[in-house]
Amino acid sequence: PSSAEGRVLERAHFAQGLRPRAANSHKGSYGQAGVIGGAAGMLGAALLAARACLYGGAGRVYVGLLDLQAPTVDGMQPELMLRPPGDLHLLCNALALGPGMGQSEVAGQQLRRALGFSGPLVLDADALNLVASTPTLQTMLTQRESPTLLTPHPAEAARLMQCALAEVQSDRVTMCCALARRYRAHVLLKGAGSIVAFPDGRWFINLTGNAGLASAGSGDVLTGLLTALLAQGWSAEAALLGAVHLHGAAADELVSHGVGPVGLTAGELAPAARRLLNQW
Ligand code: AMP
Ligand code: MG
Repeated sequence: PSSAEGRVLERAHFAQGLRPRAANSHKGSYGQAGVIGGAAGMLGAALLAARACLYGGAGRVYVGLLDLQAPTVDGMQPELMLRPPGDLHLLCNALALGPGMGQSEVAGQQLRRALGFSGPLVLDADALNLVASTPTLQTMLTQRESPTLLTPHPAEAARLMQCALAEVQSDRVTMCCALARRYRAHVLLKGAGSIVAFPDGRWFINLTGNAGLASAGSGDVLTGLLTALLAQGWSAEAALLGAVHLHGAAADELVSHGVGPVGLTAGELAPAARRLLNQW
């Protein structure tokens, strides 16, 4: 029954977001994005997401690292503003939570606070795992008034649906639509042939991307690109469709130039995505 609502994702589905920059625009015109994550030992995930957020065009990018021993500047990307995570929701108009966040008590507190954020909220990685294991967070999530975007890989989706991984993979469309309905969220079910589903039942399948993406950090880059589009004012629907398509197309472009699939690193995706964003 759901198949009638499905489409192959094309650029036309998010083209409304692709607008040329006005000559007299300034950084405030392109939004304030925030990325919260990066517990001890997992700083890279948050930094990859935050850097991708800059390459995706966000006007300013704040990073809230849970590791309090972490450096206060990213020497390789000094444009990033590293702050304690607690007040990012006050500074940003789009927020992402999860990359490298861990599932500590502090991580749970950050998530609880973020669920009260009044702008579009991206939940990825350990933020999804915390939601899956915490009924009170599930209630808060479903009661949010602004859009929530969930970006699970298949194992995270299985936790969110409390079912087996094999069940997710055997009917990815049904599972993605069920997640969107259950959590009243815009959902991306990742993996080859990524599925996007909206709470109203519409869904899309994305055909860009390749096995070069099967390496650590590539999902974090997707989270950063998505948050960048949201910060720039794209609708939740257009941003999710655009980010998924763009992320895969960046990998395809790299592979066509011999950068991968073997050995493609996640950090290389962001500059490739930037090139495409400026061509589209
Ligand atoms: P994560 O598991 O969170 O790091 O996310 C991995 C990202 O890479 C997602 O966007 C997946 O859709 C993508 N990806 C991983 N493996 C493949 C593959 N074989 N083909 C296409 N995309 C993939
Ligand atoms: Mg991930």
